[in-house]
Amino acid sequence: VPAAKKDEKGRNIQVVVRCRPFNTVERKSGSHTVVECDQNRKEVIMRTGGATDKAARKTYTFDMVFGPSAKQIEVYRSVVCPILDEVIMGYNCTIFAYGQTGTGKTFTMEGDRSPNEEFTWEEDPLAGIIPRTLHQIFEKLSNNGTEFSVKVSLLEIYNEELFDLLSPAPDVTERLQLFDDPRNKRGVTIKGLEEITVHNKNEVYQILERGAAKRKTASTLMNAYSSRSHSVFSVTIHMKEITLDGEELVKIGKLNLVDLAGSENIGRSGAVDKRAREAGNINQSLLTLGRVIKALVERGPHVPYRESKLTRILQDSLGGRTKTSIIATVSPASINLEETLSTLDYANRAK
Ligand code: ADP
Ligand code: MG
Repeated sequence: VPAAKKDEKGRNIQVVVRCRPFNTVERKSGSHTVVECDQNRKEVIMRTGGATDKAARKTYTFDMVFGPSAKQIEVYRSVVCPILDEVIMGYNCTIFAYGQTGTGKTFTMEGDRSPNEEFTWEEDPLAGIIPRTLHQIFEKLSNNGTEFSVKVSLLEIYNEELFDLLSPAPDVTERLQLFDDPRNKRGVTIKGLEEITVHNKNEVYQILERGAAKRKTASTLMNAYSSRSHSVFSVTIHMKEITLDGEELVKIGKLNLVDLAGSENIGRSGAVDKRAREAGNINQSLLTLGRVIKALVERGPHVPYRESKLTRILQDSLGGRTKTSIIATVSPASINLEETLSTLDYANRAK
C-alpha cells in the first residue's frame, strides 16, 4: 500500500471550524454575534471586546471554515470525501466533532431529519456525515467491480467506561473491556463489541435507530450522559480486487466518526481546574486526546495513547500514515464567547 498523501505542508491532521446559526434562546437572551466566518480566507474573526471595546478582534486561520449558512453537503464534500478516498485505499482515518454542547457536533456527524418526512433518509439535506458516508461507500464500491464487505460498530465512552450501543443485550449498562491485541502492536481488542455487517445502504438506518434507542436509555441512567460521553461510530471495509495481472489484492480500511463529549468538560487551558475536579467533571479521554494530538503535531517522542480509553481505542487510526480531521463547532453568540475562544484555541493547537 502506498503512503497516504500528505497535504502541501506535509500534515496528516486537518482542522476545520463550523459555526452554527444563531438560535432563539440566544436571540432571547439579548446576545449579539461575535463570530465572523470568512470561508474564502479560511478565517474566523472573533469580536473579543464585548460592549466595552467594539474594535477588539482576534483572527484565527484554519484549513477550512464553514459559516452559519454552510450546508451538510458542503461539509461532506470538502471534509469527508477526501478522507473516504484514503479509507478505500486501505487506510484507517478518523473524523472528530469537537465543541461546546449545543454547537452542532451531533448535527454535523449524524444530522437531523427534515420535518413532515418530506425526504427519504438518503436524500434529506439535513443528513449528516454518518449516513452520507455509508451511502457513498456502497455507491462507490458497487460501481467499480470490487468485492467488498462493510461492518459497523458503535460504542460510547462515559466516565472511562465502554458501552456497546449495538449490543443485542437488553442491559445498556453492561461494560465492555479493552485488551491489548498481541497480534497488532498498535491495536486493542474490545471484547464482545458487536460488529454488524451492513449489506446495503438502507440497513444502516435501522442500525442507527437501534443505537439511538439505547443511547436514550443510557441518558436516563447516567448523569449528563449526552454531554459527557464520547460516541465512536466505526466503519470497516474489507475489499478484494483482482489486479490486471490476475493477482488478488486485499485491502482493509477503517473510518472512525467520533462525536466527542462537550468541550466545556475540560478547563480553558486544557488543564483540569480544582473546581471541575471536585465536581467530578474531568474527562480523561478528552484531555488525553488533546495531548495525543499535540504530541503528533509537534512530532514529540512520546504519544500518550495509553492514558485514556478513547485514545487507546483509536490508537491504530491516529498518527503514522492515517488521516485525521477535527471539525470544531462553535456558536456565534456573545453569551458563548468564552467557550468559543476556548474551542478555537484548542483547535488552533491541533494545526
Ligand atoms: P451538540 O451535539 O454539539 O450538543 P447539536 O448537534 O445537538 O449540538 O445541536 C444543537 C441544536 O442546534 C440542534 O437542534 C441542531 O439541530 C441545531 N444545529 C446545530 N448546528 C446547526 C447548523 N449548522 N444548522 C442548523 N441547525 C444546527
Ligand atoms: Mg450532541
